[in-house]
Amino acid sequence: TSFSDLGLAAPLLTALAREGYTTPTPIQAQAIPHAMAGRDVQGIAQTGTGKTASFALPILHRLLANPQQRAPKKGCRVLVLSPTRELASQIADSFRAYGRDTPMRTALVFGGVPKGRQVRAMAPGVDVLVATPGRLLDLMNEGEIRLDATEILVLDEADHMLDLGFIIPIRKIAQHLPAKRQSLFFSATMPKEISALAGQLLHDPVHVAV
Ligand code: AMP
Repeated sequence: TSFSDLGLAAPLLTALAREGYTTPTPIQAQAIPHAMAGRDVQGIAQTGTGKTASFALPILHRLLANPQQRAPKKGCRVLVLSPTRELASQIADSFRAYGRDTPMRTALVFGGVPKGRQVRAMAPGVDVLVATPGRLLDLMNEGEIRLDATEILVLDEADHMLDLGFIIPIRKIAQHLPAKRQSLFFSATMPKEISALAGQLLHDPVHVAV
């Protein structure tokens, strides 16, 4: 399989060529077709397997397929939840690199820094918001971010979210998302608290593992 066999949009293939990717990794080959088709995905994959591209590429493809859809002010079309600022930054960098030849805009929100820049970045609405749970909830409570128009949710490194005490914040965030959405869920391991969370967030998921 090549990336063009997967049917990804031309601007994404250009970006992959620029990145020097020739062949999808196993998680990419398994997850991308289902995610492109709009299915929910529950994936077991570690960092280093190419899992970021396994959700970023099909998400950008789907956003490009409906370009007339616009995020409302303070809103997003895609929400990616990440446990740490380092991982969130890497994910945002990946969306920006793969989306360079598209009009899709990515914003990054995490704690430990002043809110002003993040509030200003969200004000017009963005295509992709990558966020850590605590700061996201703060900005939601302050009325600076709304999630009611979110089309796709990604939860990355769910087991790490559990270790950091983010399960209750994630449940609170999820209450603000539309019930009708696509959800992609990744974890390196699936302890029972994590499979319970996946059961609550996902609808009829495809299971993939590498
Ligand atoms: P990740 O598991 O998402 O953290 O990705 C691990 C590393 O693999 C990152 O540096 C990616 O840029 C790189 N990568 C992801 N997919 C591919 C691919 N299909 N071919 C070559 N490198 C890749």
